[in-house]
Amino acid sequence: MASQDPVNPSHAAFDLFIQAQTCKDVQRYFAELCKQVEVDPKDFRSFYTKLKERLNYWKAKALWTKLDKRASHPDYEQGKVCAKNKCLVLGAGPCGLRTAIELSLLGAQVVVVEKRETFSRNNVLHLWPYTIYDLRGLGAKKFYGRFCTGALDHISIRQLQLILLKVSLLLGVEVHTGVDFQGLIEPSGDKGWTAKLHPGCHPAAAFQFDVFISAGGGRFIPDGFKHKELRGKLAIGITANFINRHTAAEAQVAEISGVARIYNQKFFQDLLTATGIDLENIVYYKDDTHYFVMTAKKKSLLKKGVIKQDYSDAEELLAPANVDHEALCCYAREAAHFSTGGQLPDLQFAQNHAGRPDVAMFDFTCMHRAENASLVKERKGKKLLIGLVGDCLVEPFWPLGTGIARGFLAAFDAAWMVRSWGKGTAPLKVLSERESVYQLLSQTTPENTSKNYAGYSIDPSTRYQHINFSSIKANQVQHLYVVDDSKSNPSSKKQKNGWSHMRQDSVGGFDELIKWCQKHTAGYENVNVKDLTQSWRSGLALCALIHHFRPQLIDMSTLDESNAVHNNQLAFSILERELGISPIMSASDMASSGQIDKLSMVLYLTQIQDAFAAPPL
Ligand code: FAD
Repeated sequence: MASQDPVNPSHAAFDLFIQAQTCKDVQRYFAELCKQVEVDPKDFRSFYTKLKERLNYWKAKALWTKLDKRASHPDYEQGKVCAKNKCLVLGAGPCGLRTAIELSLLGAQVVVVEKRETFSRNNVLHLWPYTIYDLRGLGAKKFYGRFCTGALDHISIRQLQLILLKVSLLLGVEVHTGVDFQGLIEPSGDKGWTAKLHPGCHPAAAFQFDVFISAGGGRFIPDGFKHKELRGKLAIGITANFINRHTAAEAQVAEISGVARIYNQKFFQDLLTATGIDLENIVYYKDDTHYFVMTAKKKSLLKKGVIKQDYSDAEELLAPANVDHEALCCYAREAAHFSTGGQLPDLQFAQNHAGRPDVAMFDFTCMHRAENASLVKERKGKKLLIGLVGDCLVEPFWPLGTGIARGFLAAFDAAWMVRSWGKGTAPLKVLSERESVYQLLSQTTPENTSKNYAGYSIDPSTRYQHINFSSIKANQVQHLYVVDDSKSNPSSKKQKNGWSHMRQDSVGGFDELIKWCQKHTAGYENVNVKDLTQSWRSGLALCALIHHFRPQLIDMSTLDESNAVHNNQLAFSILERELGISPIMSASDMASSGQIDKLSMVLYLTQIQDAFAAPPL
């Protein structure tokens, strides 16, 4: 039997491909495998079927069984539903690749461009139960035997990319590394939408597409999208990776799934007393490396000489020239040593992509979130659907471990949007559905999403509770359908405020909500909730609500009614970080009279009400 033959070159190539541990090796062994079985990877439509036919190897068959099960889901309509669509995906991070897989299962031709040539991030991502289920279903365990074997559930970013890259390639996705996306090129003549790439002569530059998925990571904002900025109090994140030699002693050390100051004051006080290190929280995962992520207080970083000079501006404060790298290494090592009870015998730094100790400092003071998740551009009669996924849609706050879970949810939602597009649904309906679903993303937690992981699919109703696909109406997304700028087309006119076009009768009569707010803010100084607009201007009512339910999160005695922007900013950042509720307007809009939109407040306060009504996590 062929499967017993240890020297069958195609089996050997398959084994090497499965085990490959770098992006380059994955691509190399994939090319070798294709050569051995004589299947052209450019033949995306029948690539997977031919590969299956020609690779008669038991190890491969176990993987095909998994992938076939996924591909047989009715949502994909046997890969016919998007057979006419061509999709360009920007970024081979976890979310770009996860989206690419779904698009190829829908039958689309998918090309991914990635500017890096290596996958080098040791940092570790927390996985919600559904993501583990999802990745197992894609054969993660076959590519990476240690997948989720620890006490906690996590994976390094690079391992996750490797798994998803392998699955993508097997399903016929074209992945080009070392290719920098520099913008979209509008249709001309017979040519449709293409991408400006570097190097310009790259074959992918000729690819014409009708769907563009942007998964370029945090702070990457494609043309036409706007980001909201959520500025909270200064939050300095430190990540550190130490070599894991997988010894028995290391295996004994307990992981820390996340301990926050408010829940364990003693631990942080002891740490401060013993070392001078002052933290808000810390997480430790034992993965390919010993990975730590912590939020450190500025004062202790200054005192320990990690930050050289104090600046009020976070960017200046954390500029490389103002950070003593050696001192940072010592700080991270000491924190790691203390928090693991000195049990990790040899805290030697792993290396980062540049061959230096893998320790880094990040600014979480200002988080970004895209205002919209989708857009349609039409030029010369050619339509392009654009969707954002991953960090460029909503930046995650790493210590809370939400990043990859919400990233994958958005990848599925984007695939569902492309499915509607492939079915020929009207652009405004595609956009309004996508934006309706996007409203739910930032509130998701493992507790309020469906527990039926086996039932998860790209259909949002299998994952989100209480979904309403038309909470945003087509007339509210007209500004997201951008037809030739040069021509005046009523459908391209921007709406100033989408919410304000909802019918008044749908926003009236919120007595119950007001009563609930009054009940839980009663007795707080300078707080008098009478309505859903002006009563909230100073920010004190929001802060009081938070204080009522979680007194440890906010110190009301430090707040000043006249400092409305500060109060609102504080409340927004706490609600986002602690409850996952994104703000609906800027702190300064909230603080200025006449700027508070009633319907937005209804949505915001309803989310807060739901979150506080839910049992604590
Ligand atoms: P990313 O993983 O950032 O992927 C985006 C990809 O797009 C990158 O590979 C990038 O090279 C590529 N790209 C960007 N611009 C272009 C372009 N113009 N052309 C072509 N390609 C482009 N999360 C945690 O929870 N814990 C952590 O400790 C942690 N550490 C991180 C460390 C770093 C240095 C970074 C960048 C992110 C980190 N994250 C961490 C975030 C986490 O990696 C993401 O949430 C997760 O990877 C999902 O992100 P994504 O796929 O949306 O984007």
